[in-house]
Amino acid sequence: MIAEIIAAGSEMLTPFRQDTNSLYLTEGLNDLGVTVAFKTIVGDSLDHLTEAARNALQRADIVIFSGGLGPTEDDLTREAAAAALGLTLHPDPAIIAALYKRFAERRIAITPNNAKQADILDGAMLLENKNGTAPGQFLVTTYRGKKRYVALLPGPPKELKPLFDEQVKPRLAALLPTRFLAKRLLRMALIPESQVDARTSPIYKLYEDVETTILAGSGEIQLHFQCVAATLAQAQARVDELAERIEREMGDDIFSSHGESLDEVILLMLGMRHQTLATAESCTGGMLAQRLTAIPNSSRAFIGGAVTYSASMKALFCNVPPELIESQGAVSEPVARAMAEGIQTTTGASYGIGITGLAGPGGGSQGTDEGKPVGLVYIGITDATGPEPVTQIKQLQLMGDRERIRWWATQHALELFRR
Ligand code: ATP
Ligand code: MG
Repeated sequence: MIAEIIAAGSEMLTPFRQDTNSLYLTEGLNDLGVTVAFKTIVGDSLDHLTEAARNALQRADIVIFSGGLGPTEDDLTREAAAAALGLTLHPDPAIIAALYKRFAERRIAITPNNAKQADILDGAMLLENKNGTAPGQFLVTTYRGKKRYVALLPGPPKELKPLFDEQVKPRLAALLPTRFLAKRLLRMALIPESQVDARTSPIYKLYEDVETTILAGSGEIQLHFQCVAATLAQAQARVDELAERIEREMGDDIFSSHGESLDEVILLMLGMRHQTLATAESCTGGMLAQRLTAIPNSSRAFIGGAVTYSASMKALFCNVPPELIESQGAVSEPVARAMAEGIQTTTGASYGIGITGLAGPGGGSQGTDEGKPVGLVYIGITDATGPEPVTQIKQLQLMGDRERIRWWATQHALELFRR
């Protein structure tokens, strides 16, 4: 059972607007065990819309149209669906009456084009739209001998969402064979996508009934698994079995086996051990603290962070000797070490993290940092949970613009800390 979503509207073929309705619809269809196999975004042309409708009806069991149900010239979804299905449109007297009533209540003159919102496909049932004038439509029909479920929904998200949830989803649920969808998400940081795929594809290829998607971005790789089966237990067992085999292969490279973020995992880990963390950040300007404090209840483990941008702030919060910065440069291994150790000592936290680096765009231009390349970052992690505090240092050469370097520096710090 597969679905296609057709998002109608020329604005979504410009650089300024995105089709977000299909994301919402996809989630709802997935709940019913239905996979979305195609999405089409099509401009406000009757020919193009009709062609899109024909393609969709040819290849998908469920076709959901979003948008183009309003009263204006460019609202053509009804006409296109009728043309593709070979059905006629007829005006529904009840909707015409409702439109007249609505306009009269608001003391606006009704224009003739408003009447087209009352056009309904032969055999379709109307979906009342409490948040707008254009009702939706739902139709069970055949296309070239194959059974098809078709819905026409208005474009504005605040109209589409309730219409889909309250009137389309329950109807589909009642009509479709009961199927269940189970999902699982594994997350990894800082490993190349090609490496993840090389190590995992021999395993996930054995699970033809589980759909595997690899998403990469911002220093993270996500492995999404989903499976549709006759019972939820069956679907869940399949994704769990695959996830466990992948976990065995990837080992500690996986930081999250149920979708938690890296920040969450670290806070959970600290919370379980009743330990605390403090940070001192230079080039990342508090981004690490921001990421950690974005997680609810982070205060149990994250006690705070200092943005120690200048030498005097590094001295004030981390006791970094100004001579050290003068001799080594602020972006150096000894300074990262001193920041991590200093913030750990001044706060009394179990762990301290220090980050110093050159985020760019200009390279090091001051004193002993002169000539150091953009993207050079040092991370220090002090572990004071043993008999003697131990500090490990990582030197990185990151690529990209200022924002990317700053983000990746925090990602490296968190991943280094986790391991
Ligand atoms: P209206 O009666 O408002 O004209 P309509 O059903 O004709 O409704 P459209 O004209 O296609 O819908 O879209 C109306 C507005 O809804 C758009 O300007 C846009 O803001 C929003 N919209 C339409 N389609 C989408 C979509 N796929 N994703 C997100 N927003 C959308
Ligand atoms: Mg419109």
